[in-house]
Amino acid sequence: MTRTPLSTSLDSYEVWFVTGSQNLYGEETLRQVAEQSQAVVAGLAGLPVKVVWKPVLKDSDSIRRLALEVNTRDDVIGVIAWMHTFSPAKMWIAGLDALQKPLLHLHTQANVELPWADIDFDFMNLNQAAHGDREFGYIQTRLGVARKTVVGHVSNPVVVQQVEDWQRAAAGWAASRTLKLARFGDNMRFVAVTEGDKTEAEIRFGVQVNTWGVNELVAAVDAQSEADVDALVAEYLESYDVAAELLPGAERHQSLRDGAAIELGLRSFLEEGGFGAFTTSFEDLGTLKQLPGLAVQRLMADGYGFGAEGDWKTAILVRVANVMGSGLPGGASLMEDYTYDLVPGAERILGAHMLEVSPSLSSTKPRLEVHALGIGGKDDPVRLVFTADPGPALVVAMSDMRDRFRLVANVVQNVDAPDLPNLPVGRAVWEPAPDFATSTACWLAAGAAHHTVMTTAVGIDVFRDFAEIAKTELVVIDEDTTVRGFQRELRWNQAYYRLAQGI
Ligand code: MN
Repeated sequence: MTRTPLSTSLDSYEVWFVTGSQNLYGEETLRQVAEQSQAVVAGLAGLPVKVVWKPVLKDSDSIRRLALEVNTRDDVIGVIAWMHTFSPAKMWIAGLDALQKPLLHLHTQANVELPWADIDFDFMNLNQAAHGDREFGYIQTRLGVARKTVVGHVSNPVVVQQVEDWQRAAAGWAASRTLKLARFGDNMRFVAVTEGDKTEAEIRFGVQVNTWGVNELVAAVDAQSEADVDALVAEYLESYDVAAELLPGAERHQSLRDGAAIELGLRSFLEEGGFGAFTTSFEDLGTLKQLPGLAVQRLMADGYGFGAEGDWKTAILVRVANVMGSGLPGGASLMEDYTYDLVPGAERILGAHMLEVSPSLSSTKPRLEVHALGIGGKDDPVRLVFTADPGPALVVAMSDMRDRFRLVANVVQNVDAPDLPNLPVGRAVWEPAPDFATSTACWLAAGAAHHTVMTTAVGIDVFRDFAEIAKTELVVIDEDTTVRGFQRELRWNQAYYRLAQGI
């Protein structure tokens, strides 16, 4: 079988930059439009996804053909549009109607300062995005086109950052649209919030969510050679601070070898199937010797999405967050709100999971240890132990509200954890914005899950762009949130998202 290693890179992607105009202006003006739009593209050269300039669009048919070409190109993940001159917007109806990729409306201008002393009507004729883009805004709104609008000159770093955030969201969307997710076993028995409509997930996000018997995974694990296990154990010894009892020759070394075989088997299964995300269930482990811990942690750090207890919705979010954060410091992981420190005024949340937290949240060398775990009823599992780095972070959960998916995000601050000598799992300790009581009351009001993706690589702006592209509800708990305002937003959204889907 061919094995395809997972890619989380943005290098193969492009976004196309299109400039709207019309034939009325004559050759000289259109030549300047082309030149100046190329200069705008040059101002976006440092972005993580390459921006490709396309010839100026001047009529309805060429606009429609461009949109159709974008749709067929897997490497083109979005379109940036700018109306340097006046481009009568009925020309854009067919194209915008056809376009199936994310759209960014860049409301910019070739010049920063106006040359007040020299302005003549030729200048006015050339530099009229101020009303050309208003015409374009009208038709986008009239057609109900989801898009991001960015305002300002490309020499302004804030403008460039906003375009980058959108590029990252568009890359997350491209990853989502092509994502195949393998579930080993079903959801944890009796749990509500990890359930959901898998058909709707494929309609909405493009993700194929399907189940495989855990026996197939067991077979893949059993097929691994001793030589491959040796090589992976050597990599562990190189990468981690390995507990003495797990070292070669020590009394529990076999546990490490069993963990390595699980990683090799899981990785080969995912690569052969072209999967980018997966779930496990501790209630359905077949003859696996351990609950997969170390393997899941390392696969998440390599860019895979993962959800525990069959939680495929969180697995989608972890994969999408890994792609959106490509190349940035930090990472993305399954996280679970576990327990609280309720000291008044200094409340903190301790998040962790049984085993499966990604070491990409930490810049220190994790400990590799083995400990008993009652859950799952298997041999003691090997796992990486660390604390997430202090710094800004975001947790995002997905709930199935029956008629739609709801994303709930909380802006948080990871903080230094006290020593936790008796807690041998990867974990994070954070203070949620705007404060513990408001954050938690809003989270509960929204029906948000106990599982989240925690990302320390991308912020809320990227997730906002993703939700806009996905036409999916996102409610955000941040510095500006109040419980009353948040509850009102939930009620309004309840009506809006039902109406927006059509009757
Ligand atoms: Mn859990």
